[in-house]
Amino acid sequence: MTMEALSPETREHLEALERGFAERARCDIASDGGPDRGAHLDFDVVLAGGGLSLVYGAYLAQRGLRVAIFDKRRIGCGHREWNISRAELHPLVDSQLFTQAEVDALVQLEYDHGICRWHGGGTYPVRRVLDCVVDAERLLDGLRARAEAAGATLLDHHALAGYRVGKGGVTVTLSPARTLSARVLVDGMGAQSPHAAFDLVCPTVGGVMRGLEVDARVGEILVTTEGIEDDRQHIWEGFPGLDGRFTTYLFYYVEPQHLPARPLTSLYERFFATLPRYKRGDATLVKPTYGFIPAYSRLRPMPAARDRVLLVGDAAGRHSPLTFCGFGSMVRSFLPVADALRERLDADKLDARALASVWREPPGLAVMGGLTLMMVPGRRPSSDPNSVNQLLDAAFSSLAELGDDLYGAFVRDQIGFSDFMRFMRATAKKRPSIYDEVFAQLSKAEIARWSWKLGGLALRKWTSG
Ligand SMILES: Cc1cc2nc3c(=O)[nH]c(=O)nc-3n(C[C@H](O)[C@H](O)[C@H](O)COP(=O)(O)OP(=O)(O)OC[C@H]3O[C@@H](n4cnc5c(N)ncnc54)[C@H](O)[C@@H]3O)c2cc1C
Repeated sequence: MTMEALSPETREHLEALERGFAERARCDIASDGGPDRGAHLDFDVVLAGGGLSLVYGAYLAQRGLRVAIFDKRRIGCGHREWNISRAELHPLVDSQLFTQAEVDALVQLEYDHGICRWHGGGTYPVRRVLDCVVDAERLLDGLRARAEAAGATLLDHHALAGYRVGKGGVTVTLSPARTLSARVLVDGMGAQSPHAAFDLVCPTVGGVMRGLEVDARVGEILVTTEGIEDDRQHIWEGFPGLDGRFTTYLFYYVEPQHLPARPLTSLYERFFATLPRYKRGDATLVKPTYGFIPAYSRLRPMPAARDRVLLVGDAAGRHSPLTFCGFGSMVRSFLPVADALRERLDADKLDARALASVWREPPGLAVMGGLTLMMVPGRRPSSDPNSVNQLLDAAFSSLAELGDDLYGAFVRDQIGFSDFMRFMRATAKKRPSIYDEVFAQLSKAEIARWSWKLGGLALRKWTSG
């Protein structure tokens, strides 16, 4: 297979995404000049971006808020396929957005177990993690229909041009020209958000394939087929779908300032060229899926909170930088975050501090950063192309030995501090050089921040008994 497998429309969209990513900061944003206290406002909430964050729009509209949603594409038009762990789907029912039967119908397939495999190392199985394949189109269509039925205003094909915040609300300007006013702006614009200031990004390409030789009972969470090439460690992910289909992605970690000129297009070239290293078979591409997955190592500053602007989803970087299950993280977190936002609206507390407090970061996320930066080769000189594989092999063999609960919690971003330390100790036993290797990749400031986070969590754990 070659680039010819991508339709002209797909290539156009790839280029638009690449441009949109490069130009994401070009918005006219001001922290003054917006509506005064007591001014008439059209909406309670304006949601910028109707991708997966549409779940916020649908839920808040169903709870009686006046909601407007706009997206530069069609609202609810995904170009992804998603997998998730079964338990993570509960909030879709708890929120009353879907019935249990509707959620069951969203799950296309549930496979037996997942694996992680590092080139030159072992294969490490895990159960009850990312084992449900969700019909992304059906989910997004369902959210769009629910938002509309609950009275939300939907503006397809409108991009954010800028916004101005005032004491009484926020005025949002769109392109083509249109102005909306609201009490709060929710930014769900994902990796292209003008607020996103992530320090890591994974260009990700692939799609739904037919004709590959796969085991339909096994999801492949992280797999490598070679060492570092061109200063990058490429990683595959793949999971079975209906009728012998297999969704697969190729991605790598990079700091945004080191992205090549056409990140998605050049990665697709590699995807087609190296797919036979990963899977045998006479493959055809049924549906291309791609995008930028942003991440925060949390070892450098995150975006500061703003008055009347709440970041959600990928724009907020809520998922783990290491496993980036953004879909799982969003479905898991939207309900408490949306309910906390409703409370802030009721109390009319919409300043930066009040909005920042709608989200409490799980401890596991705070400590992944040091490990994640190991996935970004080229930050420091290294002569061994297998360094990332060897380190991850030691880490995942420890996880597998520590059992499904801990291994699963690690992959789902839910590992607690004590379990994280158990995992680090087990890995250090297998590979005593691990701390030296991790610290060699970090700057002094990053080491200080990581140690401070680990120390803070240890103290909290100790004082709470
Ligand atoms: C290829 C790929 C595969 C993935 N697979 C998985 C998976 O299997 N499991 C998992 O847990 N996670 C997965 N993820 C991550 C998951 O898709 C994201 O975490 C999730 O989609 C984030 O939702 P979001 O609403 O924040 O952003 P998005 O879903 O990216 O939506 C952002 C929306 O904002 C719109 N937008 C952008 N800029 C503007 C603008 N200026 N004006 C108006 N609208 C704008 C876009 O058109 C888009 O509709 C995958 C990601 C990718 C790229």
